[in-house]
Amino acid sequence: MEQVRVRFAPSPTGPLHIGGVRTALYNYLFAKKNGGTFILRIEDTDQTRFVEGAEEYIMESLKWCGIVVDEGIREGGNYGPYRQSDKKTIYRQYADILIDKGDAYYAFDTPEKLESLRSESEKAGKTFIYNAEAREKLINSVSLKEVEWREKLDKGEPFVIRFKMPHNEDIHFDDIIRGHIVVNTGTLDDKVLFKSDGMPTYHLAHLVDDHLMEISHVIRGEEWLPSLPLHIMLYRSFGWNPPLFAHLPLLLKPDGKGKLSKRDGDKMGFPVFPLFWPYGETAKGYREDGYYPEPFINMLALLGWNPGTEQEIFSMDELINTFSIDRVGKSGSRFDPEKAKWFNHQYLQKRTNTQLAIEFREFLRAHGYHFDIIRLETLIGLVKERVSFVKDIWEQTDFFFKAPEIYDQEVVKKRWKEDSAGLLLELKSILENTVDFSAAATELVIKAWIEKNGYNTGAIMNALRLLIVGTLRGPHMFDIISWIGKDETLKRIDKGVTLLSK
Ligand code: GLU
Repeated sequence: MEQVRVRFAPSPTGPLHIGGVRTALYNYLFAKKNGGTFILRIEDTDQTRFVEGAEEYIMESLKWCGIVVDEGIREGGNYGPYRQSDKKTIYRQYADILIDKGDAYYAFDTPEKLESLRSESEKAGKTFIYNAEAREKLINSVSLKEVEWREKLDKGEPFVIRFKMPHNEDIHFDDIIRGHIVVNTGTLDDKVLFKSDGMPTYHLAHLVDDHLMEISHVIRGEEWLPSLPLHIMLYRSFGWNPPLFAHLPLLLKPDGKGKLSKRDGDKMGFPVFPLFWPYGETAKGYREDGYYPEPFINMLALLGWNPGTEQEIFSMDELINTFSIDRVGKSGSRFDPEKAKWFNHQYLQKRTNTQLAIEFREFLRAHGYHFDIIRLETLIGLVKERVSFVKDIWEQTDFFFKAPEIYDQEVVKKRWKEDSAGLLLELKSILENTVDFSAAATELVIKAWIEKNGYNTGAIMNALRLLIVGTLRGPHMFDIISWIGKDETLKRIDKGVTLLSK
């Protein structure tokens, strides 16, 4: 294979959707698998859609994901500039080449005129298409005499440059994922290549760039497939070899009905963007929701690509080694927010207690608690299997840090009996005299006391848990009291007995 050069070419119009991250990821995996180059190109020729901060957001997102850019606006490279607005003057000359060849033309129709043609057609139940038939009746350098259109140009009348789509021709082309495709040009319009504001449209700009940057494979979202016949025609007109194409299937809503949108995430409480978006209408991000980048990437990789085995957990290196574009499916992939959590859970389990303790310590600091790593490690060992995120550790362990303020009334009703206060005070005096407060030692002491007196283990342990935790949840009781220590245990028993005996 020739040198593999692929690009991810987002438009900075807002936060990057996770579908876009997946496109970037597949490009990256394909490049690395084939010893190629991954390029980030910013496509910002549509000035009306430009959003401040979006460019940095895109770069920050890729960085967080571990997708390393080889050539781009920050990295540089021999094929720059990598931002389209930095090279806008070059595109006009390519539009002119097509005009000189007779494959493109100037069109002077005002937006108002085109709008009225559109609504007239609509009233008649038809769709207006600016194509071979229509162009003869409109104001352009095909229908006008040369002196007429030259005069318009000389006078500085606004114009666009349109591609002259042939009338009735079958265009044949191939897509790596979709196979051979034939489209008749009869259904296509004369797309605008160059706008009246002096900027190229996406169609012209991306194609010129792909050519000049020697892109070998264009891997992008399925929404661009309908434009591919035009792009093929443009390559032909320029006399350039087209790259190979792979159009990726859509990411679908969890119910499989339609494209995954921000609204779906808002409704169901999951992010559709990698990072928090701080501008204007803000949006949740995977990073701020507590996801690690590795499971996030792992999940995205499997939304559309199938490794052909049962393996689900892949590191980035394993993805690079295993990835193949031939195993990307044709049909859309349903996004499953529960599966996303599952991936994070799996990766969290692989972290050491020390790593998690360091992360959890940060979380605690933000809540005003200061603990050393060794103490937190023990705590994490007790709840690790139950958590999917670092923030879940807090939900599982909050009672380790603070005595209950209220007692679960349901549990009180069921488990706090006439004799509970007396028994718990007796237990308290046993614990007061226990020097070794390790879980194993307290367990031995308490069990011996219960046995000796013929008490009911369940009744005592539930009542104790109620006073220590506030309800019936949490890890092994002896692990809890050992961790909070003797003083705190005795205090909680006292407080509970007093409050519940009232
Ligand atoms: N700028 C286009 C987008 O944001 C890129 C499409 C392509 O990769 O050709 O979708």
